[in-house]
Amino acid sequence: MRDVILDLDGVLLDFESAWVKQAVLVLERPVARISNVHEMGVRYGLTDEEKSRVWDACDNGEFWSDIPLLPHARELVDGLEDMGFRVFGVTAVHPELLDARVSSLDGLIPSGRLVCVGAPKVAGAADKTDAIHRIRPLAFLDDHPAHVDQAANAGVPISVWLDNGCYADVPPPEHIDVAVINHPMDFLENLRSVAG
Ligand SMILES: [Mg+2]
Repeated sequence: MRDVILDLDGVLLDFESAWVKQAVLVLERPVARISNVHEMGVRYGLTDEEKSRVWDACDNGEFWSDIPLLPHARELVDGLEDMGFRVFGVTAVHPELLDARVSSLDGLIPSGRLVCVGAPKVAGAADKTDAIHRIRPLAFLDDHPAHVDQAANAGVPISVWLDNGCYADVPPPEHIDVAVINHPMDFLENLRSVAG
């Protein structure tokens, strides 16, 4: 069985729309995206106090178990399985959120194939390298440049960066073998030549 690893937020799950919905509920006013900076409070022009209130609400409610799938998510996973791949999810959130991630994925990836590698409130700093070494996938897809570099450096043959414009303040992947796509469904093309 050939395995692939997908990131969740920004690849299969619409984290951003869920966070914005939470912000509007908590702040009781509309919020608008003012930049493509990765950090959500900065991206939506919130004060530090407002940002903390939004994150606290996220961490104390049903937020993490109710993040919607992106429109293409099911088609992407089905397409990969049709091509003969087994799909894993590796996500930079704390392991205590595993059940919530399973719930948001709505059956798309079983819990036994999900790995949470993050620490509370420092998701961006998480390292996926150990999970990559354990699963040893043929291919890896993520929208965070650092995680794609971790895959390429771990020797994943097809390491792909989804450049979705959400990390404007983060340098692009450094590894020379990283492929770049602009839509998650393009990942199927990266795998076409090795599909079984
Ligand atoms: Mg992501």
